[in-house]
Amino acid sequence: MTTGAAANEAARHHVGDLAEVLDNLGVFGMLADDLVAPCPSGFRRVPISQGADYYLSIQGFTSKQIAYAHTHPDSEEWVIVLSGGGEALVAESPVALGPRLIIGRAAAHPHGFLSGDDALQLLSVQLPRPSEGTTTWDQPGETTDPIDCAVAGTCRRCWRCGGHSLNVRAEVFLCENCNLEF
Ligand SMILES: [Zn+2]
Ligand SMILES: [Zn+2]
Repeated sequence: MTTGAAANEAARHHVGDLAEVLDNLGVFGMLADDLVAPCPSGFRRVPISQGADYYLSIQGFTSKQIAYAHTHPDSEEWVIVLSGGGEALVAESPVALGPRLIIGRAAAHPHGFLSGDDALQLLSVQLPRPSEGTTTWDQPGETTDPIDCAVAGTCRRCWRCGGHSLNVRAEVFLCENCNLEF
């Protein structure tokens, strides 16, 4: 049984969602570098298109930036490295990342990312879209002090996933990757 609220959430478009841009323009082309606008606080995720059965997005890291290891028991993922390098933190041994590498991850495998000396850009295909309640966070992370953000206002790193988190009200920051408010 699907609740109305869950179905609405899956179909909802967010600011920066490329599906919304496509609705307006019909056709567009853009370099991933220009789309993502990486920020030194936390890695960024820009949704391309999403529904209950899929979630396509681009992730952008500055140098030496981390996405803390976590597990989606209900979703497999394909990651294509668009540019840059670093490590995929999967299973026991990290996998070195380089342009055009494709990494497949079956559901229930923990995974994270650490960029190298250069910026790192990934195309992520998740099937189906991971449900928020089932994700486990497998690596202790930490936040950063707020900084002035090129995107808007101030931002800091999400202590749970490592994601870019904008100040949304008073002292509250919202993670654009895992939706945590802290
Ligand atoms: Zn920022
Ligand atoms: Zn987060």
